[in-house]
Amino acid sequence: MELEYDVVVVGAGPGGSVAAKYAAMAGCSTLMIEKRQEIGTPVRCGEGIAKRWLDDVGIEPSKKWIANEVDGARIISPNGTILTVDESRAGNECGFVIHRDVFDMTLAQQAASAGAEVMVKTSATGIMREDGRITGVRARSMGREFNIKSKIVIAADGFESQVGRWAGINTNLKPKDVDSCYEYTLVGVDIDRRYTDFFIGNIAPGGYIWMFPKGNDIANVGIGVQTSKIKGPGEAKMYLDRFIQKHPEFSKGKPIMEIAGGVSISPPLERTTLPGLMLVGDAARMIDPVTGGGIYNACIAGRIAGEVAGRAVENADYSQKMMDAYEKGWRDRMEEHLYRNYLMKEKISRLDDATFDRLVEAMTKVDMKRMTTLDILRAIQQKYPDLVKEFEEFM
Ligand SMILES: Cc1cc2nc3c(=O)[nH]c(=O)nc-3n(C[C@H](O)[C@H](O)[C@H](O)COP(=O)(O)OP(=O)(O)OC[C@H]3O[C@@H](n4cnc5c(N)ncnc54)[C@H](O)[C@@H]3O)c2cc1C
Repeated sequence: MELEYDVVVVGAGPGGSVAAKYAAMAGCSTLMIEKRQEIGTPVRCGEGIAKRWLDDVGIEPSKKWIANEVDGARIISPNGTILTVDESRAGNECGFVIHRDVFDMTLAQQAASAGAEVMVKTSATGIMREDGRITGVRARSMGREFNIKSKIVIAADGFESQVGRWAGINTNLKPKDVDSCYEYTLVGVDIDRRYTDFFIGNIAPGGYIWMFPKGNDIANVGIGVQTSKIKGPGEAKMYLDRFIQKHPEFSKGKPIMEIAGGVSISPPLERTTLPGLMLVGDAARMIDPVTGGGIYNACIAGRIAGEVAGRAVENADYSQKMMDAYEKGWRDRMEEHLYRNYLMKEKISRLDDATFDRLVEAMTKVDMKRMTTLDILRAIQQKYPDLVKEFEEFM
């Protein structure tokens, strides 16, 4: 069996579905393949997203996938000092707490409604190449192996991505550039559903603990720790359990879900394209290295990739020069922020608890317009220049 499409998208996460939608909208015959049997399941996510970007990728907020709308975020330092930030000024994980499975399914539905075909239980197992150009993928479904020929391949196959590697792109990550995550969904917790909470300090070496409220007494409570700072992935759970035990508002909760997973906290890949190939979202290491959030960047990059695929097919041009339009498009939009936050992550991961306390305390006393790392540093610099001296290079 051999299938043939203009565009094949590997992976039906947010990045893949948005890419498939925009490729189909541009008139390309598009197939999205997903190795899992049900899109969006099992969930491996804190489920926090901001509101303001949804419009950019044609997503209407919907009660179907919004579990809770929050007013803002609270950053809690090791000594308990709380900085409260309004939702509109907080980062990309604050605004809605979502049902990620329904969210992912909704995006896949949008792709299908735009004309893309979707095949679940179908894994890419290799790539096809002709004359130095990627010309499709090898796939396996229900025990059958077949080729899917395509003019463009969009690889949105997530953190454990293989398509880029098969094509010869270096996607390796160093242990210090990976966070090991563990999360419980706890029912019966005593929380304020108006805020997402971020606990920082050495309770989570090189990362943080989050509480994303899904309702009055239900929340995702999770941790990300820098892999280079722990002996094995089990240690992330140990740090989280220790934290929960010390917080009666969480320890009274009963877990109804437990998940483990990895996120890249690296700079984005130096190359995300080859003739006929574009890498999107986690596969291209587009996760924010400070927050570990990646849904937003995956969707934005997915849109740009889908649109470039449309132009490539229209002009029958699958060359590197055409793919560079994608490379430039996503880099213009997010690269500077990702690099700055990568350098910031490197510094933050070396701070001690006393410095975290001083920083958060200083942040409560200055007027911040937004919660980007740069805005935070600039605001602190005005009042407490000595405190941000070692961060001056970022400003
Ligand atoms: C514990 C945890 C908590 C997180 N919390 C948040 C958060 O609160 N907010 C946020 O913004 N981000 C969060 N993230 C990150 C976020 O989940 C990712 O950035 C986001 O899912 C990226 O989307 P994507 O489409 O690039 O990849 P994914 O969503 O990972 O989708 C990739 C898809 O490709 C499929 N696939 C893989 N290989 C193949 C193959 N060979 N053939 C076919 N299909 C394949 C996979 O099954 C998957 O469905 C979290 C991550 C983790 C691990």
